[in-house]
Amino acid sequence: MKKMRRTLALFNTLTRRVDPVVPILDGQISLYTCGPTVYNYAHIGNLRTFLFQDLLKRTFRAGGYEVSHCMNITDVEDKIIRDSQGALPADASNAERHGAMTALTDRFTAIFLEDLDTLRIQRADFLPKATAYVPQMIRLIRALEAKGLAYVREGSVYYRIAGLPQYGCLAHLNREGMQAGASVDADEYERDSVTDFVLWKATKPGEPWWDSPWGPGRPGWHIECSAMGMELLGERVDIHSGGVDLIFPHHENEIAQSEGCLGHQWVNHWVHGEFLMVEGQKMAKSLGNFFTLRDLIEKGVDPIALRYAIQSNHYRKVLNFSFEGLRAAENALKRIRAFRTRMEGEGQPGGGPWKEAMDPLARLEQAREAFWAAMADDLNTPEALAAIFTLVSDLNAQDDHVALTREERDAVLAFLDETDAIFSAWPQATDSLNAEVEALIEARRAAKAAKNWAEADQVRDQLKALGIVLEDRKDGTTGWRRA
Ligand SMILES: [Zn+2]
Repeated sequence: MKKMRRTLALFNTLTRRVDPVVPILDGQISLYTCGPTVYNYAHIGNLRTFLFQDLLKRTFRAGGYEVSHCMNITDVEDKIIRDSQGALPADASNAERHGAMTALTDRFTAIFLEDLDTLRIQRADFLPKATAYVPQMIRLIRALEAKGLAYVREGSVYYRIAGLPQYGCLAHLNREGMQAGASVDADEYERDSVTDFVLWKATKPGEPWWDSPWGPGRPGWHIECSAMGMELLGERVDIHSGGVDLIFPHHENEIAQSEGCLGHQWVNHWVHGEFLMVEGQKMAKSLGNFFTLRDLIEKGVDPIALRYAIQSNHYRKVLNFSFEGLRAAENALKRIRAFRTRMEGEGQPGGGPWKEAMDPLARLEQAREAFWAAMADDLNTPEALAAIFTLVSDLNAQDDHVALTREERDAVLAFLDETDAIFSAWPQATDSLNAEVEALIEARRAAKAAKNWAEADQVRDQLKALGIVLEDRKDGTTGWRRA
């Protein structure tokens, strides 16, 4: 069956409008997302951005497009060098310095990819490491030099922003405020200091370096994404995405580098996800509200409930993460999953004609159109999910009275699969595990009731082997969670 292709629109930071995404190549979307700087655990604010991009990518795939996705791994950068070189002696060789940097970045790359898997974030088709693309970065800087857009100062190379008329187009900067001739070496800086930025950094004592036409040094952060994006996705890209904190200077500088070199527009659609707050406050280690995924899992949070809690909010609104919100997400998922289980089963003879009898298939089609209309309108997940929940209520009520037919149930299941291709949260892959666990818990309850303590303990060990921890509650029931 040929999949219907849906027209999807996204807010474009460049135009400040919700614009339809018209692919450069028919039916194909090239997507570049700025990946992690791998020197530490990702926090849930970072993960919100990756979850939003997963939603974006899956929506295009479910909408009938092929998506070619590149996410870089930043494995050379100021903070990585700061955290990886401390233990080395002052006279360490360059090879030792590279080795220490790689040891840190390999470790946190593996942890990052595990976190993505835990949250069911699909891997990018390309996951380039910056350190593997240094020759491409040098070539790009050479091209900018040849066009008069870069200059050398004491072994470092800087971008001359005055040379590019469109500099400031993304962050909507006032060109009057730009400080001609002033330059900055840091990778990150504030909007009020719009200056020439560094492309290549002359090496300093205690840093790993590469050879270059300008002497030993290392790439600046911004040039990494331009070089990898152009190498792997080409000279014209459909969508480039990151968190709102990347609009300036990172993405503004990427545009300057790539368009300065290419002489034409590089990316059509710039799409940015908003921040995350925790219980109404900015997340900060000093406030004790700073969470990594692992912190939350230790607290017993189901990562898929976290996925849903984040994705059920619109990506362009500041998200207030709270434990109450997580519980609401768990309940919402329970409701969809229970409905799914009900549709998998056979209908029971109901209570006779229902006064608001409807055509379940027509009702389903209505829900599908409402779902896609919302997703197509800048990924409006709250409205898309509302369409699902209205369907759940309506069909549950109908099924109570006039059992849905097998054909109708299968059509509903197909819709739940279609939407789960985006949200990846409702068919629980662990359903068979659930049944097994529930059966064992029941066996243990029966053994305890019969005062057969040895058998009760044995069942508990069996559950432990499955990675299940039991929680005996005060009311005599037993809950469980994955260890
Ligand atoms: Zn980037």
